[in-house]
Amino acid sequence: ATMPPLLSAIANAGRHGVLVKSAVVMERLGRIDAVALDKTGTLTEGAPKVTDVRPLPGSGLTERELLRLAAAAEHPSEHPLARAVVDAARDRGLRVPAADGFTSAPGVGVRATVEGRAVAVGAPAAGRAAGPVVAELEERGRTAVVVEVDGVPAGVLGIADRLRADAAATVAALGALTATAPVLVTGDNPRAAARLAALAGITDVRAGLLPEDKVAAVRELEAAGHRVLVVGDGVNDAPALAAAHTGVAMGRAGSDLALETADAVVVRDELAAVPAVVALSRRARRLVV
Ligand code: ADP
Ligand code: MG
Repeated sequence: ATMPPLLSAIANAGRHGVLVKSAVVMERLGRIDAVALDKTGTLTEGAPKVTDVRPLPGSGLTERELLRLAAAAEHPSEHPLARAVVDAARDRGLRVPAADGFTSAPGVGVRATVEGRAVAVGAPAAGRAAGPVVAELEERGRTAVVVEVDGVPAGVLGIADRLRADAAATVAALGALTATAPVLVTGDNPRAAARLAALAGITDVRAGLLPEDKVAAVRELEAAGHRVLVVGDGVNDAPALAAAHTGVAMGRAGSDLALETADAVVVRDELAAVPAVVALSRRARRLVV
């Protein structure tokens, strides 16, 4: 028998390295007319590196001690920034101690007890002692994360990630397919986000978003009459992936929650596969109708 068009399209999507979870999803992909993209791990390679280690004066910590405590708290996290911190500590030959009572807040950061000290690593809160160092790193396009020890800011880490090679082409292709400029939705700081967005050809940037703010951005596009495709990879993207008309997760470094929540998963690590499957869906739908 000849395969029904939507099933052939699913097989074709598989050849592009995209796992489409059902024929219903295959059909819906072609109906989207607006796109919201996550930054870290989606537009970027998701292999960020620690570039700056800055203990704050008064913390009494050396660079190595700061990095060691931060890495211990980050060790249980699957966030790309957490992996960068742990790798940086290992690269410097540091032994990362075990942490107790680990908790993480998506889009905010992590907390744990390390050698009896309360260590928190995460997004800088406004107006803290770390402010000037944070501002300086962000001006240089870094993601700045603040390390607090026993409730006091003790240092700042600067982290940088590369734009994916196919990011600009993908943004252009999605813009052409939907006739709508793609939007960047990120938990990262506005300065780093704007710099990266410019390289990818995105002008509509929503930064500093918590997971629920990403959902609100999707709802806002829907209220303007759009059917929204969300592309993301993180735990922080899961609510938006669920709220979207169609959610696509980046699979290689994506969190389990994002992969489970999304309607389709980019298994091979190519962002350009996303517009390719939207086009496949449109072709299949023309054959079905
Ligand atoms: P994005 O939306 O770009 O993928 P996230 O929402 O995952 O970014 O993270 C937003 C911000 O929250 C980060 O830029 C960082 O400041 C902070 N953050 C989240 N998780 C962590 C973590 N594990 N370690 C340090 N900072 C974190
Ligand atoms: Mg992400």
